Amino acid sequence: MPNIRKAYKFRLKTNREIEEKLTRICGSSRFLWNKALAINLERLKNRHSILRYNELAFWLVLWKQSEEYSFLKECPSQVLQQKLMDLERAFMDSFDKSQPLKRLPVFKKRGLGDGIRFPQCCEIDNRRIRLPKLGWIGFHKSCDICGKIKNITVSKKGSKWYASIQVEQMVQTGKHPSDSEIGLDAGVKCFAAFSDGTMVEGVHSFKKHEKTLAREQRKLSRKVKGSENWKKQKEKISRFHHTIADVRSDFLHKLSTEISKNHVKVYVEGLRIKNMSASATGTQEDPGKNVKAKSGLNKSILDQGWYEFRRQLAYKLSWKGGILAEVDYRYTSQTCSCCGYTAQDNRKSQAVFKCLACGYEENADVNAAKNILTVGQTGMACQANRKSGRQQNPFRARVSKPAENRKEVLPVTS
Ligand SMILES: [Zn+2]
Repeated sequence: MPNIRKAYKFRLKTNREIEEKLTRICGSSRFLWNKALAINLERLKNRHSILRYNELAFWLVLWKQSEEYSFLKECPSQVLQQKLMDLERAFMDSFDKSQPLKRLPVFKKRGLGDGIRFPQCCEIDNRRIRLPKLGWIGFHKSCDICGKIKNITVSKKGSKWYASIQVEQMVQTGKHPSDSEIGLDAGVKCFAAFSDGTMVEGVHSFKKHEKTLAREQRKLSRKVKGSENWKKQKEKISRFHHTIADVRSDFLHKLSTEISKNHVKVYVEGLRIKNMSASATGTQEDPGKNVKAKSGLNKSILDQGWYEFRRQLAYKLSWKGGILAEVDYRYTSQTCSCCGYTAQDNRKSQAVFKCLACGYEENADVNAAKNILTVGQTGMACQANRKSGRQQNPFRARVSKPAENRKEVLPVTS
């Protein structure tokens, strides 16, 4: 039974006094991060090695005793130590050649990634948690917490404070309760299409609120920067952004939980979000077609968070003993899921698929999802068959071998 780490996030019931304390602690730890970062960047510039955690922790003790930085004493020591550990980790990651995308750590701004983590001395009692130097704070308990508590991170989003409780759980990776397999395709008209014909509407949370947001943004630009009204408007916009994000996150979590409960194997297309959301403008010699339509498509793919959805699906399935499998097949949208005939002309419009060979008609996204399921299952079936020496279904075998060098496949006469 493997251990997994899981986090529960709850909104805290804070009052003025606690909020002020939390703000001060966040400020102090942000100050420490920026100070230690500045020292290390300076050392790197002068070709010295960076100060490691032990040395910085030693300096921290001295800073606390000094008059200038005595405000650091108000902050729980372990929170400050955690910040220094995070900084060391961030530097080490950026030096690590196997993580080419990691960059040197950057200075933290107020409200951006300046959460505080309590590694121990936290207690949870039904609907409240006790944090060092803060005492008991109630929280909106939306689900039961199981597992051993590893740490608690407190962060601010908009005007609200949240606690993220990380626990370690033993999971039973036994048999998944269901033996159903399903293919899933990111739809153009809907969020996701399933191979069983179900289509899930997206929330389009951003699109729906886009106009309102633009209006509020214009209002902000007409106000005097830094004035009371400007601050109020700014707060309003930030609240609005958080609402949009919450609606979307809620939608993705509910859907991924539901799918991971009901299916043991979920097939999806290999990820090409980067290509799909690449600019449609094209180059000067080869200007892109349908630029406007494509940018709309890009926006809705990004809006609906397909990438985040797949991430959630993968880990939720693995908790239950299921699996998310990627299918690499280029012609899912052009192949007929009924007879296997592949041609660009099968898809005259975005929404409808009509096979030119057998006349099969289906929603284009559902047809693609069916192909994904077939290709996924036969890919696995092929390997199983090789061992047992059984014959394969001829159609499935044909679909599982994508025609790499022929764009169009003639209809099969049998
Ligand atoms: Zn057909």
